[in-house]
Amino acid sequence: MLKLTQVQTHYGKVRVLNEVSLTVGDSELVTLIGANGAGKTTLVRTISGLVRVTSGELSFNNERIDRLSPSDIVVRGIAHCPEGRKVFKDLTVLENLIMGAYARGRKIDLQSELEEVYKYFPRLKERKNQKAGTLSGGEQQMLAIGRALMARPKLLLLDEPSLGLAPIIVDEIFEIITDISKKGTAILLIEQNVNLALQVANRGYVIENGRIVQQGSAVELSESPQVVEAYLGG
Ligand code: ATP
Repeated sequence: MLKLTQVQTHYGKVRVLNEVSLTVGDSELVTLIGANGAGKTTLVRTISGLVRVTSGELSFNNERIDRLSPSDIVVRGIAHCPEGRKVFKDLTVLENLIMGAYARGRKIDLQSELEEVYKYFPRLKERKNQKAGTLSGGEQQMLAIGRALMARPKLLLLDEPSLGLAPIIVDEIFEIITDISKKGTAILLIEQNVNLALQVANRGYVIENGRIVQQGSAVELSESPQVVEAYLGG
């Protein structure tokens, strides 16, 4: 479904992604592991068209997408739930969700889309008229994921969904992520809690200094001495 072939990106003259090759198949949940500054956020921003590819190829369902605008990429079926949640704080929960549907740019049955999202996140329904800025951190994360789902993505890019949240909320959000995956949406997950990421993922890649240095099934990675040493606390 998603295929990166030797993708490079630069910030000015500085190369950030260095010949990254990676795939995410239909319904797969793939995780990207790496230290701070390794290039994980840059990678998902590249896939969603926010950072331009300087060489290599990015394709989705056999179509080159590396010259498309971010909005055209959403229309193709890729939704991005960014690090730090970034909900529209002055808008209500409902208005935030509707913004997610507009991103898809075609006629939709808004009510049925909303009901689908509320099935995953009943709390958003209860709070639909509340300003997003007054939600708890966990609820804002749910809203950010819900807003991305309103675009009915085939592939969901999740950047650090557990950041800054209490463990009990993280568990709740990860159950929902697993559920979304089981219902057939492919997911590329960046997650600082590597242990948790490898519990839910099918496969993973390790990125260091903008380069993929290791890949394998979640089981292989969780048993890899390098991964254990560097990311699972020895
Ligand atoms: P973190 O988990 O800390 O967000 P990351 O793996 O997501 O790390 P990136 O945010 O992709 O890493 O950053 C990769 C490199 O690119 C870092 O060296 C960072 O300082 C640099 N970088 C990120 N954004 C920009 C930017 N807008 N301009 C210049 N350099 C940037």
